[in-house]
Amino acid sequence: MLYTSTRDNSIRVSAAQAIAQGISEEGGLFVPVELPHFDIDKISSMTTMSYIDRAKTVLKEFLTDFSEEELDYCVSGAYAAEKFSSPQIAPTVNVDGNKNILELWHGPTCAFKDMALQLLPYLMTVSAKKTADGKTIVILVATSGDTGKAALEGFKNVDHTKILVFYPVDGVSPMQKLQMTTQEGDNVAVCAINGNFDDAQSAVKSIFTNAEIKDELAKKNMMFSSANSINWGRLVPQIVYYFSTYCDLINMGKIKAGDKINVVVPTGNFGNILAGYYAKKMGLPIKTLVCASNSNNVLTDFLKTGTYDKNRKFYTTTSPSMDILISSNLERLLYHMSDGDDKLIRDLMNKLSTDGKYTVSDELIAKIQKEFDAGFTAEQNVDDTIKYHFDKYHYLCDTHTAVAVKVYDEYVKATGDDIPTVIDSTASPYKFSASVLNAVLAGKAPKLDEFAMVDELHKVTGADVPKPLASLKDKSVRFKDVCNKEDMSQMVFKLLDL
Ligand SMILES: *Cc1c(COP(=O)(O)O)cnc(C)c1O
Repeated sequence: MLYTSTRDNSIRVSAAQAIAQGISEEGGLFVPVELPHFDIDKISSMTTMSYIDRAKTVLKEFLTDFSEEELDYCVSGAYAAEKFSSPQIAPTVNVDGNKNILELWHGPTCAFKDMALQLLPYLMTVSAKKTADGKTIVILVATSGDTGKAALEGFKNVDHTKILVFYPVDGVSPMQKLQMTTQEGDNVAVCAINGNFDDAQSAVKSIFTNAEIKDELAKKNMMFSSANSINWGRLVPQIVYYFSTYCDLINMGKIKAGDKINVVVPTGNFGNILAGYYAKKMGLPIKTLVCASNSNNVLTDFLKTGTYDKNRKFYTTTSPSMDILISSNLERLLYHMSDGDDKLIRDLMNKLSTDGKYTVSDELIAKIQKEFDAGFTAEQNVDDTIKYHFDKYHYLCDTHTAVAVKVYDEYVKATGDDIPTVIDSTASPYKFSASVLNAVLAGKAPKLDEFAMVDELHKVTGADVPKPLASLKDKSVRFKDVCNKEDMSQMVFKLLDL
């Protein structure tokens, strides 16, 4: 299996090269040249497997340059039972009728990013051994909250790696902030920036491609890589859980092998839903992928009209991990949907960086609309959805999941398409305790500090408090730096002692 770049399709690299490098030299994203195919017999054969074996079955088709032993080492280490609060790793829960929730937040940081970021450090160190002869890999992360912590936790004390995380100073929840600023490990650093997630992401991307900084790193035998979902090693683990949930639905008696399902994904950077698209292209019987957004509805507009326009008001919402106006992975979708038209992708991405917008052809958007539906919802609906599902089904979901649930309900109302559906649940409700408690209590939550809020949410709902969040209370804050976005490259020098 070889990979090419969305902005230069003459490039060919191995999986290990794509993962170690993170982003292609000319700024494009690595994508598989062709996809493996899973027929329904092969999918059915996975129903009796553990999550780890399902993961190996899917991943070995993509990581063909990894040996069986290497893959086994990576996957078994990443999804070790003691790191997850569910023996199924990513359980599917039936809420009502055809509405099923895929809980992706049972990992060590209580958000779905763990599904990929527990595996990525393994993939990256094995890849670096194959391709980067002993260099120390410096992971630079821009985070809207959850990636930062999940990457820190995945990479902490991993030999031959260092990790630097930048987060928007006012753009993460108090719990997310505490999770990051108390991070342990000898190879980690965390810094807040005055700006939003898109500022952080743009600055990180430009540091990556800055020749001067790269040279300085090379002198110290270091190289950059990325743990954001622009890295193929972040996306490929996410394909697994779409196959896994399908197998679980068969085992639960909700579908028969071969039946189609719909998939609804609360979306930010378009990584999670893109993994669902890859699963579909590989043969998983998915009918429609529904892209759910909060008030930052740039993707809804794109998928409805074909115009992507980031020049709009930016909202800080109760689902901060989706407060994104530049969805990086859309580039990969556009590449595949345009049959690998790298010139088109270069043009569109140039327009995005100069004008902040682009429009694709009627033909291209029509093709995309055959696979994707989209919707968005505003804050009050999010709260009402949390309360309704808790009161009616005793199912407690977080704010991001609630966005998807609400968009799904609207989708069914508008289309009547109520076949069995999986809605991705991307965070534990306790990661956003204040918002969730406020929703459950219909706006009447008491004013409390973050940990008292967790206790109160537990008292009111009875839902289990994840251990990693409860134990934060006893940790001290290690990282207090705040910098301007223009000064991020200096900060990188400082944090790496260059
Ligand atoms: C990252 C994140 C998302 C968005 O996922 P993308 O892959 O960026 O689309 C949604 N919800 C939560 C809780 C997240 O952490």
